[in-house]
Amino acid sequence: MTTISSMDVSHILDQLNKPQREAVSAQSQPILVLAGAGSGKTRVLVHRIAWLIQVENISPFAILSVTFTNKAASEMRGRIEQLLGSPIGGMWVGTFHGLSHRLLRQHWQEANLIQSFQILDSDDQLRMIKRVTQSLQLDEKEWPSKDSRWYINNCKDEGIRPQSIEDRGDSTTQQLRTIYATYESACQRAGVIDFAEMLLRSLELLRDNPNLLQHYQQRFRHVLIDEFQDTNTLQYAWIRLLCGDQSPPFAVGDDDQSIYGWRGAKIENIQHFTHHFPQTNTIKLEQNYRSTGNILKAANAVIANNEGRLGKNLWTDQGDGDLIHLYTAFNELDEARYITSRIEQWVNESGQYQEIAILYRSNAQSRVFESTLNEQAIPYRVYGGLRFFERAEIKDALSYLRLTVNRHDDPSFDRVINQPTRGIGNKTVDIIRHYARSNSLSLWDASKALVDANSFTARAGNAVFGFLTLINHIANTIIDLSLEDQVEKVIAASKLKEHYLKKDKGDLGQARVDNLNELISAAQGFHYRPDDEHADMDFLTAFLSHAALEAGEGQAKAGNNCVQLMTLHAAKGLEFPLVFLTGMEDGLFPSQRTIDEKSKLEEERRLCYVGITRAEKQLVISYTEQRRLYGSISYNLPSRFLDEIPSSVVHEIRPKTNVWQRNVQTPKTKLKSTGKINETGIKIGQQVSHGKFGEGVVTDVEGAGEHARAQVNFKFSGSKWLVLNYANLKKL
Ligand code: ATP
Ligand code: MG
Repeated sequence: MTTISSMDVSHILDQLNKPQREAVSAQSQPILVLAGAGSGKTRVLVHRIAWLIQVENISPFAILSVTFTNKAASEMRGRIEQLLGSPIGGMWVGTFHGLSHRLLRQHWQEANLIQSFQILDSDDQLRMIKRVTQSLQLDEKEWPSKDSRWYINNCKDEGIRPQSIEDRGDSTTQQLRTIYATYESACQRAGVIDFAEMLLRSLELLRDNPNLLQHYQQRFRHVLIDEFQDTNTLQYAWIRLLCGDQSPPFAVGDDDQSIYGWRGAKIENIQHFTHHFPQTNTIKLEQNYRSTGNILKAANAVIANNEGRLGKNLWTDQGDGDLIHLYTAFNELDEARYITSRIEQWVNESGQYQEIAILYRSNAQSRVFESTLNEQAIPYRVYGGLRFFERAEIKDALSYLRLTVNRHDDPSFDRVINQPTRGIGNKTVDIIRHYARSNSLSLWDASKALVDANSFTARAGNAVFGFLTLINHIANTIIDLSLEDQVEKVIAASKLKEHYLKKDKGDLGQARVDNLNELISAAQGFHYRPDDEHADMDFLTAFLSHAALEAGEGQAKAGNNCVQLMTLHAAKGLEFPLVFLTGMEDGLFPSQRTIDEKSKLEEERRLCYVGITRAEKQLVISYTEQRRLYGSISYNLPSRFLDEIPSSVVHEIRPKTNVWQRNVQTPKTKLKSTGKINETGIKIGQQVSHGKFGEGVVTDVEGAGEHARAQVNFKFSGSKWLVLNYANLKKL
């Protein structure tokens, strides 16, 4: 190694302000950087790593840095390498899941796992819990698997195993505990772990193996955490364990951006931090470098409505910049087309697609954007949503691959035993499941035993035997092939393409075949570096783990010049010159579930703050007057968060009336044809008052029951169509 300390390190401190420099160059002690959006927290963390390596002569090997999404982790990795001017070698940079997974792979024996253990995504987990519920002969209606999943994951996030759940004689808890315990043994038998298990198991691995713990505590002398406000109990415990008494943690976060309370994140960890690490130096950053003054004013004004904030005063010296644009769309198509036209304008004025993000509250909103962008041939990439590796055909192919690695992988076995159909009916599968359960066998071993004992009808027996032979045959033939050939061979031998072309006629079938081909390309492009997350694994296992961990493979490849589509949750930590904040309607954002509960509504407001603060130069906000989502049409009011943005920073753009009506029959004509009147007694000419729009006069009424709508001409807000069920109009 060169004598780094003699190097010029001004590049590490030059582009930092005073408190940022203080954090980056602090003595070895616990540091908590608590600051608002865009104030340089991530930048400080990255520069701190460079400082440790180049000034303090700390080996990259002794550094662990953790964040929340794969995208944020790969950006962090890139930024560190850029600053250092060299690859980061043995440093551990990743997500909590990625790093836990890495620990478990390296120490699978101590973690009581099989070497080829596989990861269950939440969909697989649900299927597994369903089977467990059936095996316990519980009524699925009374014990919905989704609720059990929530319960199990919650327990795991809190570090609670079934045996440590307190028995207070409450029969519901007792039953859930049984489901949890049975599910746990089923996973253990099948050699699979779910996402929450990954963290808990790696925590227990360290906790219960003092030598191992000592090894890692001595190795990681510096532990850095981005987005600290969103750590849950388990993640925080994991950090404390790794740090031990020796390694001071370096955490950066923002209480105003805590958006994962619904998943167990504990904003209180910020307070716990200074308590657990009494020597903590807390540093505040107040200058924002990301956004224009107007964007910042909007963000500050919105978040000011939350109570109990730690409170900070973000400012910028960038000037006000453009006003925020607010577009009232007729419907979601109009919204998408307006956004597309703005994207084209941006690019025509020499902007780039990659500088643009379209953000939404709910994944389902992406579909309309996608089709409109496609129509206009605008390249885009979707993060999250139905991820590539979660698509049915891809999961089928992966299940075959997983079975070749581990025959006892029950979820995979269950998924493909009759996929494509090979004459193995539900009855036969039930016999296998039952036998497996009663004899504590995997589905694979149970099938083998039943075939050997001639327990099936001749036809079913042949079919099951055929399936077992097929898997063994595939496993034997792919053993020495390259990863890409392995994937290709499995897809061919499983006859999945033929199956889908027959089952899903037309475009859908073809799209599935395209996806299967894309899986071969993914295998082709998969790089396995022994020093990365998949250390000590064979190629296929590494690829399968990657598939399970990868959060959000999109339509375009990473790094391409394309528009970025993502949920607000996925946008945390990122920044873009032009941001579209879409679907700003009450019921959608804030979402309906959160409106009546203060703490939930405040979390939505923080999400809104996150959304606004992603924008650097231009923010365009949109809402629709009517929206088709989840198959039905709703007429929502503009989001209450819009009222919290000062009108002085907003430029309202009126819709071009009825330019982009949908082709299908509009609800208006459909409702009129019913000829009924509404049951609320609201008539044309009635004086009414509305909680938000004030007083007005009813000028039109149509539809019946839940579809009844009225047009009201409000004194101050103009004419609006409202759904009577929700509008809560008071007659005057
Ligand atoms: P978030 O809360 O959204 O995660 P953050 O606090 O992590 O934001 P960064 O992403 O680190 O903020 O920084 C925001 C932007 O400001 C980045 O583009 C960063 O490079 C830039 N920046 C931060 N500090 C400075 C500085 N001192 N001088 C110039 N640019 C800076
Ligand atoms: Mg950040």
